[in-house]
Amino acid sequence: MKEYVLGIDLGGTKIDACLMTEDGEIWKSITVPTLADEGAEAVIERIKGCIFELIKYANQDEIISVGIAVPGVIDAERRVVKHLPNLPSWKDVPLPGIIQNVLQIPVAMENDANAAALGEYLYGSGIGIDNFIYITISTGIGGGIILNGKLFSGEWGNAGEIGHITINHKGPKCSCGSYGCWEAYASGTALARFAREGILNGRETIIKDKAQDEGIKAEHIFDAAKKDDKFALELIEKQGYYLGVGLANVVNAFNPRLIVIGGGLTNEWEMFYDNMINTMEIRAFKTNTEGLKIVKTLLGSKVGMVGAAAVGWSLIKKK
Ligand SMILES: [Zn+2]
Repeated sequence: MKEYVLGIDLGGTKIDACLMTEDGEIWKSITVPTLADEGAEAVIERIKGCIFELIKYANQDEIISVGIAVPGVIDAERRVVKHLPNLPSWKDVPLPGIIQNVLQIPVAMENDANAAALGEYLYGSGIGIDNFIYITISTGIGGGIILNGKLFSGEWGNAGEIGHITINHKGPKCSCGSYGCWEAYASGTALARFAREGILNGRETIIKDKAQDEGIKAEHIFDAAKKDDKFALELIEKQGYYLGVGLANVVNAFNPRLIVIGGGLTNEWEMFYDNMINTMEIRAFKTNTEGLKIVKTLLGSKVGMVGAAAVGWSLIKKK
């Protein structure tokens, strides 16, 4: 008999769901828009819709568990989604229980970066490496920790929030309530904010022409830098620097063998890589950087979905 896990990656803009075998083969996958504005109940109905669609592609007894990845804070003990920054109507939603009632099979849940770390460990760049950190750099910065061959989720499921390491105690207020978090300096959102601030202060740049009316995003800054725009190049150099500062903290705290980096900004990784690595090497313990490897995600844009399914598989393997 074939066996599948049903993986559900709930994102701020889309829901990816799949049936995946234990060796990582995606048998069938679907993507639907999240439409978060319609509220938690409507989104849950769309998640159920994905499940009903996918179970058509297998016999029901071939689907042995469900893994869910959510973009925010969970309470693993109470099995609830506590709070999702990009889906504000989600408060204390018992999502695993709801899905379990639909399918009558075991359901596990992790936050998205922790799920992605597990996905990279079981099916991606981290195979066979028992101590590594997964970092996603996109609109925010997230992380997942694999320690001694296991995902380290912490006591209530929220370990790995390395984007909220303070790198400037007097920095701007962050969405988490703290100040000067790493993601407020080195994420795509931060890059765009630094660009807007510079433009308001009169910096000459073509970034605004690239953005036109849609508002400045990280991609516009990379586009401008490729045209040798001086301000854009400065911004990216600064971003590489801040990434390196945060990486040094991670490397000193965990002494990982490998760091896997995913998220939208890895598309432009060549533009900030050297500065990021140099800054990290200057600041971190030499003993911790000498054998360290830093690579891009192997799973790429599939990391969320594969990660969610990996969460389901690890639940079964624990038994
Ligand atoms: Zn924060």
